Amino acid sequence: MARQTILVVEDEEDILELVRYNLSGEGYGVLAVQTGEAGLSTAKREHPDLVILDLMLPGIDGLDVCRELKAYASTRSIPIIILTAKGEEADIVAGLELGADDYITKPFSPRILMARIKTVLRRKTKESVNEMADISIHNIMIRPGRHEVTVDDQPIPLTSTEFKLLHLLARHPGWVFTRYQIVDGVHGDNYPVTDRSIDVQIVGLRKKLGSAGKFIKTVRGVGYKLEG
Ligand code: CA
Repeated sequence: MARQTILVVEDEEDILELVRYNLSGEGYGVLAVQTGEAGLSTAKREHPDLVILDLMLPGIDGLDVCRELKAYASTRSIPIIILTAKGEEADIVAGLELGADDYITKPFSPRILMARIKTVLRRKTKESVNEMADISIHNIMIRPGRHEVTVDDQPIPLTSTEFKLLHLLARHPGWVFTRYQIVDGVHGDNYPVTDRSIDVQIVGLRKKLGSAGKFIKTVRGVGYKLEG
């Protein structure tokens, strides 16, 4: 496999160096820039395999860089991992909704960052799961063709919205979905699904799933995920 190249956009020099050092050590090619402007031009010119993007940048900030990369056909499919300071959940939510694939809060351990990068790159190469394919995860079995869910082989009666919600999370184990992304992915059919009602749906779904309910994790201030 050809060497993968990662673009790092970070104005804090010590963090930039730390990330560059660790990426090089793992065998990645590294493009390192310190402004949003340079990040955009480098991404468009070099088409890296992944972008690590700090959100707090002088000039064009990270969210604008993310928005612009996702707006261009040539850069849209490049995965983005955003870096934020602790306590900036609103920015994380905004970044994920703009299409970022994952996020890391500072301070972070380089090992965790490397693990996240590998996961995101693996996801990118994996074909998207066929919507009608059966999914088996933990002790949960989802059969979309039959609209059937079992836990430990026991059928679980779910409403249509609960089924869609579980199916959405289970197609992307480990991904964090914001409430807005869930509303967008579920399209309530009996009533308008709002972000508040998503919280209610999750509570009901966890309860019905019994021993498997614990695999649906709340990511505080951000949204929900199904543990991978
Ligand atoms: Ca910064």
